[in-house]
Amino acid sequence: LDMEKTIHIAVVPGVGFGHLVPILQFTKLLVHLHPFIHVTCLIPTLGSPPSALKTILQTLPSNINYTFLLPVDPNDLPQETLTLEMKSQLIVTLSLPYLHQALKSLALRTPLVALVADSFAVEALNFAKDFNMLSYIYFTSAATTLSFSFYFPKLDEETSCEYRDLPEPIKIPGCIPLHGSDLLTPAQDRSSQAYKHFLQHSKSLCFADGVLVNSFLEMEMGPIKALTEEGSGNPAVYPIGPIIQTGTKSGSDVGNGKECLTWLDKQKPCSVLYVSFGSGGTLSQEQTVELALGLELSNHRFLWVVRAPNNSANAAYFSTQDDDVDPLKFLPSGFLERTKEKGLVIPSWAPQIQILSHSSVGGFLSHCGWNSCLESVMHGVPLITWPLFAEQRMNAALLSEGLKVGVRPRVNENGIVERVEIVKVIKCLMEEEEGRNLCNNMKELKDAAINALKENGPSTKTIYQLTLKWRNLV
Ligand code: UDP
Repeated sequence: LDMEKTIHIAVVPGVGFGHLVPILQFTKLLVHLHPFIHVTCLIPTLGSPPSALKTILQTLPSNINYTFLLPVDPNDLPQETLTLEMKSQLIVTLSLPYLHQALKSLALRTPLVALVADSFAVEALNFAKDFNMLSYIYFTSAATTLSFSFYFPKLDEETSCEYRDLPEPIKIPGCIPLHGSDLLTPAQDRSSQAYKHFLQHSKSLCFADGVLVNSFLEMEMGPIKALTEEGSGNPAVYPIGPIIQTGTKSGSDVGNGKECLTWLDKQKPCSVLYVSFGSGGTLSQEQTVELALGLELSNHRFLWVVRAPNNSANAAYFSTQDDDVDPLKFLPSGFLERTKEKGLVIPSWAPQIQILSHSSVGGFLSHCGWNSCLESVMHGVPLITWPLFAEQRMNAALLSEGLKVGVRPRVNENGIVERVEIVKVIKCLMEEEEGRNLCNNMKELKDAAINALKENGPSTKTIYQLTLKWRNLV
């Protein structure tokens, strides 16, 4: 490399663990591959950041700087219940003046080539022109969801009823046919504010210079081909995944990390079902009891990350402090005592990556947040797909019906997955022929995932092309 000039880029993550950690991980990969890149992360926040996050920020290399924008005051958010997506974006909207200021002072010091914003922070890209930067969206969800987002305005125009009432499945370009009821949460009620908001959001994705999507060809062949095809009409799409957290001990030193790993060390290979609903997923009291009894009846070993029940599925998503309610007190009486030989119950948070990479883990009952999906793939762990909110039902359909690396439990007419159904899917995954097939399919997908990010792998090449483009602008 002769006299490489430094390429400065600015990055705006979204709010919430699942929208911040992935983009940070991307910047780590970027500077690792191209040491002449310098990244400044400008982070919108609500209140003070959770402690697991601080641990991650401390491990960033020296060519990645970060600044927390002035935190948004929770009292400035409207008190009526906003959806998760709207709340995330509102926090970004309220942070825009601080962001503009931060970009301005950065640009005075050094020319910035590109602005990369999380998909929940697209509004930030309005500033790209002001500072003569290219604008990119870092899309933390599946290419399936991206394809749906681009297709959504058309679907909206062509449909008059609720999507769940359509007799036929919906054909999103390149994707497996999806039932209307599996579309993401904001698309479920056409008269809602959330729907209008999502429609507008979908339209705004088109104005970026490019979209980086955390996926790879073998996992989403159809949608990626549709998105990258000549004449697709959407901005350039760059599949750069699967990017997952690595190299940090995110949590083995926090809270219960050690306990989980020591316990796993004592179990047989592939014998444990890991149960977790992401950084903020919660179950109702009734569902928590049903899950507990299902785990118990299945007679399999389990490691369950339990949260205090709530009737809103994403209740813990924005919690800024570590919880003080003891989630264990909501479990059925005597459950802990009866299952103490079989299971480990951990309140609120566990080191997921280390758990998934442990040889004792043979299955993952997951809410199908996209990061959890990718982490499971990267570690070759087949899934029980139990979606809760956002686009998780689309991910669940992709994993179970499309890729056949997961089994999806049936939800009854009251929205509950009953204990007998839980036993059924656990046995299917951990004991039966079908489970072995899921496992084999997952192993194949894992190999492809690892290959995508090898030195000459497709995702690495894509990132390289992008940086070449940026370099030519310096
Ligand atoms: N996570 C973790 N420990 C937990 C729960 C979650 O380390 O107890 C991490 C998990 O590894 C993943 C992220 O938090 O990287 C959750 O992201 P995902 O997209 O799966 O779901 P979300 O939290 O956005 O619903």
